[in-house]
Amino acid sequence: MPERLVYMDNNATTPLHPEVKKVMIDAMGLFGNPSSLHGPGREARQLVEAAREKVASFIGASPEEVMFVGSGSEANNTVLSALSCQRERCKYHHEGLHEIITTTIEHPCVLETSKCLQERGVKVSYLDVDRYGKVNVEQLQEGVTDRTGLVSVMMANNEIGTIQDIKKIAEIVHQQGVLFHTDAVQAVGKIPVDVQELGVDFLTLSGHKIYGPKGIGALYVRKGAPFCPLIRGGHQERGRRAGTENTLGIIGFGKAIEMRSQEMEAEEKRLLKLKATLRKGIEERIPDMQFIGHPTDCLPGTLNVSFDGAEGEAIILYLDLEGIAVSTGSACASGSLDPSHVILAIGLPAECAHGSIRISLGRENTMEEVEYMIDTLPLVIGKIRDMSTVYKRRQ
Ligand SMILES: *Cc1c(COP(=O)(O)O)cnc(C)c1O
Repeated sequence: MPERLVYMDNNATTPLHPEVKKVMIDAMGLFGNPSSLHGPGREARQLVEAAREKVASFIGASPEEVMFVGSGSEANNTVLSALSCQRERCKYHHEGLHEIITTTIEHPCVLETSKCLQERGVKVSYLDVDRYGKVNVEQLQEGVTDRTGLVSVMMANNEIGTIQDIKKIAEIVHQQGVLFHTDAVQAVGKIPVDVQELGVDFLTLSGHKIYGPKGIGALYVRKGAPFCPLIRGGHQERGRRAGTENTLGIIGFGKAIEMRSQEMEAEEKRLLKLKATLRKGIEERIPDMQFIGHPTDCLPGTLNVSFDGAEGEAIILYLDLEGIAVSTGSACASGSLDPSHVILAIGLPAECAHGSIRISLGRENTMEEVEYMIDTLPLVIGKIRDMSTVYKRRQ
């Protein structure tokens, strides 16, 4: 094992914030069911509602508009799956409303759910993106009609960091009276997100991407927006998501959000500085490389880069030997050797998609670590290229 760990895979998941860890350890003994009327129940209820208020106020929502769910994936599944609800009394169940528009670069939990809906008779259209990963707004303008039931566009991409103009997109969608959802898992806590300002109907959050625990997420549902539960049963979460609340996860999530509200602004500036240094170092020291994603409308800590003649998987493994953790496209897609759907969608050839790595910086990364990366990466790329007949032939 290398003697150090430089963790630069914060878009995959993040370590718990020390303050989050503290409140979770303190809450470990809390066992009351928030639905119970007695003392232990009321104590749990109070902590859950305090966390809800923190999440709500951080995104400019009211507490009744925030429901806790098991993950970002569940939140996205909930919003999309409502489209195929067959119950007569469900507000979603309108003749002709069975159409959804999303994009080619969404997280797999949106793409796979869309595919499943398609098989159940829902029409699904995918918006293209440009070479920076920005959604084609004209295509949206033409595509959204009064037959559309929902448009879902992610706010910030997990692989390349590109940030969409959600406010403008929501405006276009609403002009047709259509509902709009955004997967803001990578955006909330990294850049300002205000649901009033953005004008969205549904917005997805997740705990573990912002130094909170895994297995907890939240969904913002605008007051008055039609809703259809994915998980039915008890009356929890105002009847919108059955199942006894994950109290410990909710408490940790609330604390993580509270810490973000204190640290985000300064952290955004600090990460931008680290990334600029990293960018410059890579550019200066490694030939035949290319940065992927939008140069400015990008998450502060995300840097996606591809190297000619070097496979992403090989880079990951060699960096791992040097104690540096990064990833190829996305954690959810790795394990398969398919090229990243996001890199393909922005029009880069499959070789590029195979040769790209995602470096995602977070609150624990230091300038010293960035310098270590700048020293190590050229050696790793050099080693891999030396073994690549393809790369040498091109020289
Ligand atoms: C991680 C992620 C998700 C899924 O969130 P989980 O809580 O891990 O299910 C959804 N969308 C984006 C953009 C993500 O990065």
